[in-house]
Amino acid sequence: MTAVETLRNTNTNTLRDALTRLETEGAALGHFNVSDQVLLKAVIAAAAETKLPVLVGASEGEREFFGARQLAALVKSLRAETGLPIFLNADHTHSLKKAVEAANAGFDSVGVDFSALPFEQNVSNTKETAQAIKAINPVILAEGEIGDIGTGSEIKETVQGNLKKLTTPEEARQFVDATGIDILAPAVGNMHGMLKSMVQGKAKKHLDVERIAQIKQAAGVFLTLHGGSGTDDQHFRKAIAAGINIIHINTELRVAWRESLGESLARDSNEVVPYKILRPVVDSVRQVVSTRLRLFHGQPISPDAVGSVA
Ligand SMILES: [Zn+2]
Repeated sequence: MTAVETLRNTNTNTLRDALTRLETEGAALGHFNVSDQVLLKAVIAAAAETKLPVLVGASEGEREFFGARQLAALVKSLRAETGLPIFLNADHTHSLKKAVEAANAGFDSVGVDFSALPFEQNVSNTKETAQAIKAINPVILAEGEIGDIGTGSEIKETVQGNLKKLTTPEEARQFVDATGIDILAPAVGNMHGMLKSMVQGKAKKHLDVERIAQIKQAAGVFLTLHGGSGTDDQHFRKAIAAGINIIHINTELRVAWRESLGESLARDSNEVVPYKILRPVVDSVRQVVSTRLRLFHGQPISPDAVGSVA
């Protein structure tokens, strides 16, 4: 039985229900960021192709470009039309105002991110924001973040931030107890963005799997892994087994988007029809999303699946 059938049969239509069920199946929910409708189409096409649930994500910058209410309305309409378990997360939300805006727009979860502040300030701001969004929608999930995993889903020359300072099980437990969050984003060897060597496939990110298991045990909430792009496949599998429930992929999508857009534009300089130029871009990003989704659900990544047009 696929995850989609399972979700439908048991009528589990909240994000919390989906995460609980996926955890029992030993799978993680893929979180894919979108800046525009091309990326959203690609993510939804991958969900339809694989019959797997997806979490569409948009950071403050992505929401500003797309329109938070417009994105929420599109996701709602896609969910109704396809019947697929498609969820929506307000990724990296740095203020109470933006969190409330996302909750009012109908997002399923808010990634509350005050991780740049000192621990105590992070705790109080995260707690206040989590309470505010739950007052608007009791089933919304609040995510909190601790540790430094760098910023920006971009291609980088060198590692940024203090990536060696990983989250400890003790601070994870303290943070969850003090804030009442539903989902914790720890620093466990993950990093936002990709180094050039990772884009070229010469290097992979490695995760501290043992630490993930200890944090899961100590925190007792859903765990989300940010900055998943460029991570070794085996490390993803082990991280899911150790307790990771959500995996964020953004830079890999952006790299596929840029490369395919460049190729598409270069193919015919007289082509001016946007949907003809953009169709191969949707397909290229869809392939990246489908491959990652299959991995997160323990499915074989068929080479036949790559290169096929849905
Ligand atoms: Zn992130």
